[in-house]
Amino acid sequence: MIKFCPLFSGSSGNALYLKYKDTSILIDAGLSKKRITQAIEDIGEDASKLNAILITHEHIDHTSGIGVMERGYNIPIYANISTWKSMPSFVGRINQENIRFFETGKKFTINDMEILPFEIPHDAADPVGFSFYLDSKKVTSVTDIGHLTETILDNIKGSDLLLMESNHDLDMLINGSYPWPLKKRIKGDFGHLCNKDCGDIIAKYIEFGLKTVVLGHMSAENNIPQLAYDTVKQCIEDCGYVIGRDVSLDIAKREGHNSVFEL
Ligand SMILES: [Zn+2]
Ligand SMILES: [Zn+2]
Repeated sequence: MIKFCPLFSGSSGNALYLKYKDTSILIDAGLSKKRITQAIEDIGEDASKLNAILITHEHIDHTSGIGVMERGYNIPIYANISTWKSMPSFVGRINQENIRFFETGKKFTINDMEILPFEIPHDAADPVGFSFYLDSKKVTSVTDIGHLTETILDNIKGSDLLLMESNHDLDMLINGSYPWPLKKRIKGDFGHLCNKDCGDIIAKYIEFGLKTVVLGHMSAENNIPQLAYDTVKQCIEDCGYVIGRDVSLDIAKREGHNSVFEL
């Protein structure tokens, strides 16, 4: 059985939980050990049993808890070499034996999990999304994407479950209070994905077996969960699909008590 829960998702911290058979991992750990541990306990699991933490990129909302998690639970941390080299200093000392490397674009395994880290366009050293091949199922997580690329689309294709960034509503961002340089960064080619672009892609890939969709990494300033949901829903319906019948659509809340998905 596959168990997936976006414990936290957004610019104030990211940590996604994935369990398959006896192996459990986190994708990113951008919150305190205490909060991550509690969130894992809340879904009936045990943080001390984590087999690994995979890092998408070095930004603080993805890494702030990895040092304390590693030191507290002796968990191996996996990242590519450029991300390791760019790791913020607050991460602190990581036990050498828990510094693990993967190569972007190359599959690796942790016990029964087969994992493909793939390249994404974002303003970090060598940021990645992840696809997990778990027997006949495929789970993909992709956030912090400035624009869509062939590589991203290739990896979304055939996924049963997809957690995808639905970061902002473009009008809210443009008319909002952020200073122009920040607005430019967010909507730029190496920033974040808007609701409409997210929705268009999701709608396109339902025919390739996409059954469960979770919208994540939502902006607190420039998005409203209901608006993101409605925008993506509209894109799906415009392509003739029905939510609930053809695909399920959920929101990963920025924090606290998110849904648990079992496949
Ligand atoms: Zn982020
Ligand atoms: Zn980022």
